[in-house]
Amino acid sequence: MHGLMMSMPMTIGSILEHAQRVFGSKLVVTRQPDRSLHVMTYRDLHTRVKKLANALTALGIQPGDRVGTLGWNHHQHVEAYFGIPEMGGIIHTLNIRLSSGQLAYIINHAEDRAILVDGSQIPLLEDIKDRIRGVEHFIIWSGADQVACNLPGTIHRYEDLLDEADASHECPVRDERAAMGLCYTSGTTGHPKGVLYSHRSMYLHTMGVNQANAFGLTERDNVLAVVPQFHAMCWGLPYGAALAGANLVMPGPFLDAASLAELLHDRRITVAAGVPTIWNSLYHELKRNPVDISSIRALIVGGSAMPRPLIKAYEQELGVNVMHAWGMTETSPIGSVCVPLSRHRDLDPEAAWDVKARQGPPVAGVALRIARDEEEQPWDDRATGEIQVKGHWVASQYYRTENVAEHFTSSGWFRTGDIAAIDPDGYVRITDRTKDLIKSGGEWISSVELENTLLSHANIRETAFVALPHENWGERPLAVIVPHDRNEGISLQEVRRHLAPKFPRFWLPDAMALVSDIPKTSVGKFDKKVIRQQILKGELEIIRE
Ligand code: AMP
Repeated sequence: MHGLMMSMPMTIGSILEHAQRVFGSKLVVTRQPDRSLHVMTYRDLHTRVKKLANALTALGIQPGDRVGTLGWNHHQHVEAYFGIPEMGGIIHTLNIRLSSGQLAYIINHAEDRAILVDGSQIPLLEDIKDRIRGVEHFIIWSGADQVACNLPGTIHRYEDLLDEADASHECPVRDERAAMGLCYTSGTTGHPKGVLYSHRSMYLHTMGVNQANAFGLTERDNVLAVVPQFHAMCWGLPYGAALAGANLVMPGPFLDAASLAELLHDRRITVAAGVPTIWNSLYHELKRNPVDISSIRALIVGGSAMPRPLIKAYEQELGVNVMHAWGMTETSPIGSVCVPLSRHRDLDPEAAWDVKARQGPPVAGVALRIARDEEEQPWDDRATGEIQVKGHWVASQYYRTENVAEHFTSSGWFRTGDIAAIDPDGYVRITDRTKDLIKSGGEWISSVELENTLLSHANIRETAFVALPHENWGERPLAVIVPHDRNEGISLQEVRRHLAPKFPRFWLPDAMALVSDIPKTSVGKFDKKVIRQQILKGELEIIRE
């Protein structure tokens, strides 16, 4: 017997409907290319989203069609987050940091019919114009003078399209399982793979991230989304902020630490979200030029592990609470969030920072286990295994991709490729990516743990560990280091001395390379693939014992 309750489709449109009816005067604030602030209400957003939906329909875009976006975080991009799904389309976020080959590949693989693009990003498309002939419309967000761009297809000014469009629009999406978003994984190996979100999965993800045991967004929050809108649906923040009625602040193209510090202070930000490299440079900026950021209740960090010394420094020196989250494109992306338990409140500060350095327990809506293939490992904080997940917002397959069986276990768990231990409270501690583990003499060495510990050395600004091929041991750890002071440098002996109290002898690196910069991926993580290539090509000056 079924229950006798109404069934209301969980759609993106219903999130915005709620925002404009209940929180119509709350704000979306954007730093524009000329550095001025653009301010609009959710009521304005609602009107412009309806106009965008009508404008796309008038161009012949049909429900189910893919519409690309290529730009920074700003109000027009937020309009696309709502407006494309509003007319039944699928928003395909394009990462502005992809290589031209990858960009052309994903535009064609997705068969984007139209692309909304920042004026400043047009050259990226012009570079590949002969390879993306299937795109019929290019809609320019800003920099109207750039409409004379050299692209195939019809060129439109976004604001002109909106001016001409009607503001009343009835969302055609009745089936909550309809697709609404497409995001390709950053693809460190092989071609990028597309993850296709549905209205239902994204709606449930929004409820999931807004839980008090996760980001817990409310109407009292001012949310700064530093994580790009072209990375993993901006961690769900545009939808989460709208559903909660929080003010949403977008940094535009200005991701430098000084500009972020100014926004944090001026907009009294309570929740800000970004990757560790951004928060690392913000920390150094705030030490040099302190500003009052006491409004922050959670500095959310994810994308890669936030080193414990940085979590501690933020809290001890700046009074900022860091909230660690884990996830991936395939999990929409939030899988776990490190909100302390009541019993963690009684811990001494060092033990409390140990907890905060963990990625936290799975959020309700995601089932998570560690396993070696199908063999589940205990939650004793010692056994490690691959994180495997199931859930309302976890991918069940990749978009138009064959041979993906290796990504799922025979009983249907999604294999994340992350290695972790879990404590008896369910708090995940990621020890590595399967492919980044260093295998020395048959034993695993965790590059992440070495990086976290070495970063607490006063003369080290950034460090990444990768495997160096070794004839006896198979692989040995190489420390790639950016010192604070290049002239002063640091010796290998000193590196080993710093790590020795915490790790077995065989974990200590017998080689290092001093560099001025560690290569980063398109989403700001250490690009260990590039470091490995630098080693192979002999581009790194390796200092040995
Ligand atoms: P992406 O799909 O680009 O978001 O990348 C997802 C991957 O980023 C995960 O599989 C992890 O390897 C890594 N990652 C995300 N969040 C964290 C975190 N808090 N700590 C460690 N690794 C993370």
